[in-house]
This record gives sequence, C-alpha cells and structure tokens, in this order.
Amino acid sequence: MKEKISRKAEEIKDALREFRRDLHQNPELSFEEFRTANKIAQALTQIGLEVQTGVGKTGVVGLLRGRSGNKTIGLRGDMDALPVEELNQVPYASRKKGVMHACGHDGHSTIILGAAMVLHSLRAEIPGSVKFIFQPGEESGGKGARGMIEDGVLKNPDVSAILGVHMWPAPIRLGQIGLNYGPSMAASDSIYLKIKGQGGHAAMPHMTIDPIVIAAQIINMIQLIASRMTDPLDPVVVSIGLIKGGTRRNIIANEVELEGTVRTLLPETRIKVKEKIEKIVKGVAEALEGGYELNYVMGVAPTINEPGLTRLVEEAAQEILGEDQVLRLQHPHMTGEDFGALCETIPGTFIKVGVYSPEKGHVHVLHSPRFDFDEEALVTGVKTVAYAAVKYLSRAHSE
Ligand SMILES: [Zn+2]
Ligand SMILES: [Zn+2]
Repeated sequence: MKEKISRKAEEIKDALREFRRDLHQNPELSFEEFRTANKIAQALTQIGLEVQTGVGKTGVVGLLRGRSGNKTIGLRGDMDALPVEELNQVPYASRKKGVMHACGHDGHSTIILGAAMVLHSLRAEIPGSVKFIFQPGEESGGKGARGMIEDGVLKNPDVSAILGVHMWPAPIRLGQIGLNYGPSMAASDSIYLKIKGQGGHAAMPHMTIDPIVIAAQIINMIQLIASRMTDPLDPVVVSIGLIKGGTRRNIIANEVELEGTVRTLLPETRIKVKEKIEKIVKGVAEALEGGYELNYVMGVAPTINEPGLTRLVEEAAQEILGEDQVLRLQHPHMTGEDFGALCETIPGTFIKVGVYSPEKGHVHVLHSPRFDFDEEALVTGVKTVAYAAVKYLSRAHSE
C-alpha cells in the first residue's frame, strides 16, 4: 500500500503543480471562494466522488466510500487567501491586486485534492470512508470551521478523526513534515475595549477623568498576567494592537478605544486569562472613576493534537517519507488556526508540511508578501495524509 501511494503521488506531481498555481493566480478572500470552490467541486466530481457544495457557505466536501469498514476519517484543507499584495515575481503570481495566497492555503486545498486522487485510485483496498473537507474562511477568526460543523460536515457519515495540513516555513525543510504532541497552535481571542472618561482642559486634570491614563494603567497591568499570574512554562501572549483617543495635546480626551489579541495554549488558561483581563479592566476603571465597555470575543480554539492519532501519523510519515524527514516539534506556535474548532469536536492532528528551502529562496514566513514554496511539498503532503488515512482506517477496521 505504501509503495502504491508513493508511486501514485509522484505520478500526479505535474497535475498538483498546475492546480496549485491556478489557485495561486486566482486568490479569493474568506467566504468569497466561489471560483476556488467551483474548481475543487468539479475536480472531485471528475475523480468520481460524492460531492457536496455550499457547506458552511462556500465549503466543499467530497466523500469516498471505501470497500468495507464503518469508520470515516476527515482530511481538511482550507481555501481562502489574504488581503496582501504579492511581491513575488514568478509566472504564477497573484493576478488579483491586493489579494494573495500568503498563508499557503492554495497548497492545502491541492494536497487534500491530491489525496482524493490517490485514494480513489486505490478505493478497492481502503477499509473505510474518507471525507475530503475544503474549508472556507479560515482567516476570518474561526467562522469557517464553525460554519462547516454547524452544517454537519462531521456527520452522515460520522467522522471519527480528522487530519489537517499547513505549509510550514523554518525550521521544517522542504521534504519534511513536523508534528506537535499536544498543543500545536494557540487559541486566539480578541479584546475590544472602550474606556469612558470625562474630557476637559489638560491643565486642570482634577476636573476631568482622563481615559488615556486609565488606558495606560490597564495596558501595563494586563502584561502582569503573563509575568505574574500564569505559569511561566504555559505561554500567554496579550498584545494591544490599537489605541485611539484624543484630539490635541492640551485637551483631556473623553473616550479611548483599545483593541488587542490574546493567545493561549490550554483551554483552562484561556478562561483564566479572560477572567483576569475582565477583573483588571473593572478594577482599574473603578479605582480611577472611569466607565468602560469590554467586548471580549472568544475566537479560535487552541489546536491540540490528540496523542494517539499523532503517533499514528508520525509512524505513517516515517514509513512513507523516511525517519529523518519527520520532525517532532519542541514548541507549538502562538498563531491561531481554526482547525482548533474541528479537533475540539473530534480527535484531530495538525500536520505541518515543510517548505523551508534557502536553496530555492523559500525562506519567508507565513503572511509575508514573499511567501512561496516548491510544489515538491505538495507530494510530501499527499503521501503523508493519504497513507495516514489508510493506516487509521486499517487499524480501526482490525480492532
Ligand atoms: Zn494565515
Ligand atoms: Zn493558514
């Protein structure tokens, strides 16, 4: 089986490259993936799968019913691009001004489609079913995965485990994959805070309530959450990215607006940090006699890799790629990924597919206007997910 999957994945390399480059040239923002979804649905139909469109708005699902067995594994790739102006000068650069596949989602969709091609050609030997999930709106703060779950993507037939893929720059080299045991990507929550004071003359501060001073205290205090209120070995990031208030140097503002992001890895820490922020805002505002409106938005859940499934993927990747091509990553990443919503619902694991290649000039980080990768990575991804899916279904079948 391993040899057959490897051979087939190598055979379709040109088709994968062409498919990815077409998506790359025609990027679409979150929930506007109409052309992309259409192209994927057509390709899945052509392969011979049962296809469902409009799942979670613009999502697409292909179902491969295997020979026997009653388990179904899900393979998930996302489809949306970012509002980034591409700076790469390559023949397949984005043709759409200000929109770019800077997070590699063109690669993810292509890997999952490639796995569908490979597994369909071997369908008589697959002991279970595979759902190929093409998710929209990953860059929209969690709405993409949630929309698909609400539309029943994990039901009928019920999906019992899910694998996700993401192109990954350093330290994972082209040809390698990386896996985290436990947390892989952070939860990403948002702070929207309005502080209400009482404006007046800056030379008579005692006659005013200064929301800028209140904001400054709050910004400093919430930094103490990471340094004094949570375990130093349990990462927490609290960043205020926007502050808006005031009109002139000698006028005390009436109101200040703040926006920020909070990243955590563990569900219990996520709740704790939220409570601490609420407490600090309330306490500081009250002490300094200001008012406030806090809108704390729980965004993307942390992506936590289920250890048993991760071990299975690790073994599969070692067998099909070679042992030295599989990295056990020491640290998770504090970026958010809405695969978290899927692996919060059923056991899942997130596979980071290496693209780092200084030789080819592929050294740029995700979301960079220069991010790019060699399509050899797609073959690596297809081999890994296709073989891991078969291994999972075979194991489930023999239990
Ligand atoms: Zn991204
Ligand atoms: Zn991404």
